[in-house]
Amino acid sequence: MKPVSKQIAVMNLLEIDGIRFYSEHLAQFSLGNGGWASALCPFHNDHHPSFAVNVYGGAYICRACGVRGPSFVSFVMALEDVSFKKGLRYLENYHG
Ligand SMILES: [Zn+2]
Repeated sequence: MKPVSKQIAVMNLLEIDGIRFYSEHLAQFSLGNGGWASALCPFHNDHHPSFAVNVYGGAYICRACGVRGPSFVSFVMALEDVSFKKGLRYLENYHG
């Protein structure tokens, strides 16, 4: 199994509330159509909402600095600079 699909499978098991998760982690969070939301990018000094996130799968991409990832856990790994395992634990604690 490839790492990305494994991450998504794990996230489905955790049933992360993506709207709550991203709205609590991102400034100027604004939900749009199709599960996509915009917000200020936490990975560069963003002045306009350049950051797009999917509240269902957790995928994210920044139109300004180009950072991107496929899932909630990859977002946590990048934001907190932690391993996959620690990222999962972060989400488990958040969920619980
Ligand atoms: Zn950015």
